[in-house]
Amino acid sequence: MIKGMLRVGINGYGTIGRRVAHAVSLQDDMTVSGIVKTKPDYVARLASKYYNIYVPKESDVKAFEDAGIKVKGDLSKLIEDSELIVDSTPEGMGEKNIVTYKERKIPAVFQGGEEHKIVEASFNSYSNFDQAIGKKYVRVVSCNTTALARTITPIHEMVGVRRVNATLIRRATDQNDSSKGPINAVEPSLKFPSHHAPDLKTVLPIKEVETVAIKVPTTLMHVHVIELNLEKEAKANQIIDAWKSKRRIAVISGKDGRSSTAQVMDMAREVDRDRSDLYEIPIWKESVFVSGNTLRYIQAVHQESDVVPENIDAIRSMMQILPKEESIEKTDRYMEINGSAF
Ligand code: NAD
Repeated sequence: MIKGMLRVGINGYGTIGRRVAHAVSLQDDMTVSGIVKTKPDYVARLASKYYNIYVPKESDVKAFEDAGIKVKGDLSKLIEDSELIVDSTPEGMGEKNIVTYKERKIPAVFQGGEEHKIVEASFNSYSNFDQAIGKKYVRVVSCNTTALARTITPIHEMVGVRRVNATLIRRATDQNDSSKGPINAVEPSLKFPSHHAPDLKTVLPIKEVETVAIKVPTTLMHVHVIELNLEKEAKANQIIDAWKSKRRIAVISGKDGRSSTAQVMDMAREVDRDRSDLYEIPIWKESVFVSGNTLRYIQAVHQESDVVPENIDAIRSMMQILPKEESIEKTDRYMEINGSAF
């Protein structure tokens, strides 16, 4: 470990945890002290090439050793070896784990599956970085909420947003999961608003937010159809320029073949990036429609990766390592995030 590097432990090494671990390892001011795995599977074996492996409880050690995977200790030992924990365990588990973190007086970042009420602040880099400064328990909002906050914030800063109305077409599950569906159905959230509206309000000061979510049989991305009621009128090119000024947003065109999530993720695979992730939120230029105070647009969300840069910024905000713009710039530089490259 290099002196001055913040030691970050990752509890839960699934879709989000493995990506946050990798993003931490790319930075020059933090390092991965270890990761917690529950099973000695192929993921644990591959991870052991890069990280120290820990297990939830001492009694889990034997199964790993039997599988030939060296274990450094249990969660308690990881806490001892770390200065901050990123909790990326399955939805709802963070609520139990926070008790342990508080007892051990270690700060922790949680994910969007946890409830806002368990933490001191919910987090999005563009919309409320400063609210996490010096806090010990912070939650990065979900992939959908992160994407909404990220593309609405520049517009809110430019002309003010009075009302948000969004339809979220959600992927059924992630690519490594063959246990969930639907595989032949369209599943609406059945209530207005869906849970995304109150979630967005935890990071953006807009009072009127309506959302509905519809789950569809795909694993690649979510798609959002968004309508904003603006306080002041703006031209479509001004709106597009505001998005283009942000590296975590990619204004793309459907005219060159990128007309669905299939081509958008194919584009991501063509870029030399780890796991072919797309951290940026793509917005289709042709979908941007302005009429009076109404703005409509369509965006996609790579749900497995868009929250990863926010986890890095949340750590820097909580630990007061860097102020907002410097943190975002550094995260983007090391993760090669640059929407204009697409
Ligand atoms: P996941 O199921 O892919 O990963 C969770 C990991 O935690 C798994 O590897 C699981 O084995 C492990 N785990 C289970 N019990 C554990 C324990 N006791 N101790 C340590 N690890 C344990 O889940 P995920 O998709 O990475 O989601 C994690 C969090 O991130 C959730 O709050 C989720 O809502 C949120 N999130 C998920 C996505 C997404 O699209 N997958 C996007 C944004 C936020």
